[in-house]
Amino acid sequence: MGERIRGSCLCGAVTFEVEPPFQKMVHCHCSLCRKGTGTGHATNLVVRPAQLHWRSGEALITRFELRSTKAFGKWFCSRCGSPLPRIRRNSDIVVLPAGSLDTPPPISPTDHIFWDSRAPWSCPSGGLPTHAERPDTW
Ligand SMILES: [Zn+2]
Ligand SMILES: [Zn+2]
Repeated sequence: MGERIRGSCLCGAVTFEVEPPFQKMVHCHCSLCRKGTGTGHATNLVVRPAQLHWRSGEALITRFELRSTKAFGKWFCSRCGSPLPRIRRNSDIVVLPAGSLDTPPPISPTDHIFWDSRAPWSCPSGGLPTHAERPDTW
């Protein structure tokens, strides 16, 4: 077990810690992440709910679930709008926005997913593995 990593929202009201291990750090190029972040792709770590510990401001979290999709949603600080870690519904997976971390995680990006959905102006692959969608085994 390594050290816990800290994260927070832009206004600082919501804070959390996440404990290792970090198995995946994924650039997601799907159209939903694009809309939800306003950027070319989201960069998320994938951890289990037991690894996530809210430290402050949990009551400020707005939990938006996009019901027309299987599991997409966005949890964010209702004060500043920053994306926050989200427990994917009907699963035991936490999707943790890498940009919410205050400490660099002990992992580098591992994969690109939904590569076939990427915007023409998005970033190049940088030599990482690309997957057309999300691999079934994840
Ligand atoms: Zn905030
Ligand atoms: Zn996505």
